[in-house]
Amino acid sequence: MPNASTNTRLRRLPAIATLVADGDGGAPHSWAEGPRFADAQQLLASGFAPDAVLLIPTEARQAATWLESLRRDARLGLAPLLLARSWGESVDALSDGIATSGESFTRCVAAIAARHVGIAKREAADGDERLLTFLYLRPDYILKPVADWRHERVYRYPLADVFARAGEDGFLMLERLRQRGLLEPTGLLERVPSCPGCGAGHLLFIETCPQCGSIDTAPQNFLHCYACGNVGTQEQYLTHQGLSCPKCSARLRHIGVDYDRALETLVCRSCAGRFTEPEVKARCLQCHNLGAPDDLTQRSYYGLRLSTGGELAARTGQVGDLFKLIDEFSQAHPEYFTQTLDWLLDLCRRHQEVQFGLVCLKFTNLRLLAAGLPRHRVAQMFDALAQRLRALIRTTDLFMRDDDEHCWLLLPQTPQGGMDVLLGRIAALSEDSTQDDGLRIEIATAALSSAQLDERITDARLLMGTLRNRAA
Ligand SMILES: [Zn+2]
Ligand SMILES: [Zn+2]
Ligand SMILES: [Zn+2]
Repeated sequence: MPNASTNTRLRRLPAIATLVADGDGGAPHSWAEGPRFADAQQLLASGFAPDAVLLIPTEARQAATWLESLRRDARLGLAPLLLARSWGESVDALSDGIATSGESFTRCVAAIAARHVGIAKREAADGDERLLTFLYLRPDYILKPVADWRHERVYRYPLADVFARAGEDGFLMLERLRQRGLLEPTGLLERVPSCPGCGAGHLLFIETCPQCGSIDTAPQNFLHCYACGNVGTQEQYLTHQGLSCPKCSARLRHIGVDYDRALETLVCRSCAGRFTEPEVKARCLQCHNLGAPDDLTQRSYYGLRLSTGGELAARTGQVGDLFKLIDEFSQAHPEYFTQTLDWLLDLCRRHQEVQFGLVCLKFTNLRLLAAGLPRHRVAQMFDALAQRLRALIRTTDLFMRDDDEHCWLLLPQTPQGGMDVLLGRIAALSEDSTQDDGLRIEIATAALSSAQLDERITDARLLMGTLRNRAA
C-alpha cells in the first residue's frame, strides 16, 4: 500500500511524452512512463498536452527537426524539452539540456513549472514575446551564439531563429530586444566581420596589386645598385660570374657596400608594378561584393539574458504593443530623425536665424501600470493620451518613438516661448489621464532650445543622450 507521502509525490509527477525514433526502444529511460510517439508530428497531432517531452532521436538532423517543430508550436513551444543525449551545441541549444536521470529530469521540469505561476496566460504569443517568456521560465538561461559554417552569418542563435516570426531575422530580433533593454549582454563572445552589402560572414581576404587590382602578385627580391641607382629583380642581376648590374655592369660583391635590397618585395605579374604592401580586400562569397576591410560591418555576438525590464515585459506583456497606438503617427524613423537633427545643428551653427526645439518625452510609469492593471484598461488610458498627443503635434514637427519609454519631438523654427507652451500642454496630458482611482500615465520631459546650445554639443546623438538622462 502506498502511503500518503508517496501519493503526493505520484500526483506531482509530470506527464512526460517520449519521442522515440523507430528501432530505438528507449529502454534505459524507464522513468519516462508517459505515452510514446514516433516523431514530433505524431505528438502534435495527438492533442496530448504533456508537461515535458523526452526526445530519443537516432541522429542529429532528426533531433533538430523534432525540436524545431515542438519549439514552433504555440502549445508546446515553451515546455521543457529534454534530450537523451547530446547532438552538438546547435541542436542542444534548442532543448532544455540532457536528461541524465529521472531525478534531473523532474527537477528541470519542476523549476520551469514553478515559474509558470507568475506569468499571465497569453495564448499564441509568438516571436520576441515567446522568446521573452521562454527566458522568464528559465531564470538563469543565457542565450549563446553557436558557430555554424553552413549559416551565411557563421554565428547564429538557434533559439532566436526558431522563435522568430516567418521571414524575421533571429539576430535582428535579439538586437532589437537588446536595444530596448529587455535583454542584457553578459559578455562579448565573438565579433564577426561581415559583408556591408548582404550581412554574410563568409569572406575571403585577398591580397591585390595596389596599382591594377590584380591578385596575381608574387614576392620578389629587388636589388639596388649603389653605382648607378638601378633597381631590378635579383634574376636580372644574376650572371655566371655572380651578381652584376644589368645597367652599369658593376660587380655587386658586398651587400651594404655595392648594393642593398630594395624595400619593394612584391611584384605584380599583370602590370609589372612593384610594391611593399599589397592591398588587402575582402570579397564576400555570398554576394561577391569586393571592398576594403575597414568598410566591413562588425557583428557583435553577446551572451544574452533577460533584464529586469525584460522580466516585467514577460510577465505582463510588452508595453511595446501599447506603443503601436503611438507608432501610427510616429512618422519619423529613428535614423532619419537623428540625421535631420544633425542637419539642423549644422545649420544653426552657421545661421543665427535658424532655431529649433527638441523635446524628450519619457513615459515613466507605463511598465508599472501594465504590471498592475488589466491590459485593456492600460490600453484605453494610453490610447486616449496618444490621441491627444497626436493633436498637439503640428505637421511640420517631427515625432519619433524611440523605445518602450522614450519619444522625441523636433520642432523646427520654434522659439523658446513656443516650446514652453507645448511643454505645458504635455504636462496637462498626463494630468488629464488621471483616473477615478488617481492612477495616471506619468510623462517626464526634458527640452532644449537651440538658443541654449553650446560648443559641447557636437552632434545629435550626444544631444539626445543628454536630454534622455535629464528626463530620467
Ligand atoms: Zn598590377
Ligand atoms: Zn648599376
Ligand atoms: Zn555580401
